[in-house]
Amino acid sequence: MDPRLAKFLQTNAQWAAAHQHENPIYFDQLKAGQKPHALLLGCSDSRVSPSVVMGAELGEVFVHRNIANVVAHSDLNFLSVLQYAIEVLEVREIIVFGHYGCGGIKAAMDDEAFGLIDNWLANIKDVMEFHAKELDAITDPQLRHDRLVELNVLAQIKNLQQTSVIRKAIKKGITIHIHGWIYDFSTGHIKVVYEPANEPAPQL
Ligand SMILES: [Zn+2]
Repeated sequence: MDPRLAKFLQTNAQWAAAHQHENPIYFDQLKAGQKPHALLLGCSDSRVSPSVVMGAELGEVFVHRNIANVVAHSDLNFLSVLQYAIEVLEVREIIVFGHYGCGGIKAAMDDEAFGLIDNWLANIKDVMEFHAKELDAITDPQLRHDRLVELNVLAQIKNLQQTSVIRKAIKKGITIHIHGWIYDFSTGHIKVVYEPANEPAPQL
């Protein structure tokens, strides 16, 4: 076996034994069911592990990840996750979890052809086109990238609000709070870019 993978399995065995030792009913409690506090939509990037950087315990966060944390209305995978989270798990907090230094955002900005993924990145290009005036005015490429990361999170919040799942929940009188957070892996800190208490919808 690949030595790094073998190490992962070894570490897992130690981790499981340590938890079992520390709390003999730890795994029984997890087995009993989940009642996560939030649904998180994050990027697949290996440097972004939301539960790790937020110190979330197992069972606390229901997670979906894709390239550049996109909400696409044709994505049955994410929409199923969303429906299950809202209707079955009764999650009421949703975090759109972007990150600076996002390769998906960069690829969309650089406009290079990568094949199949270009179709996915078209979702980001839509955000870019919508905000072309603001983005074109930023001359520093790094700052322009950072701004697109932020605009993408806000755009995905808006997309979330337009999903049939969220609309249905609102019709039923259920309040869903959608938060926009951006992780910076160069510092380890999370920046809050959108809080539902502050305004009814992202200002785009
Ligand atoms: Zn990313």
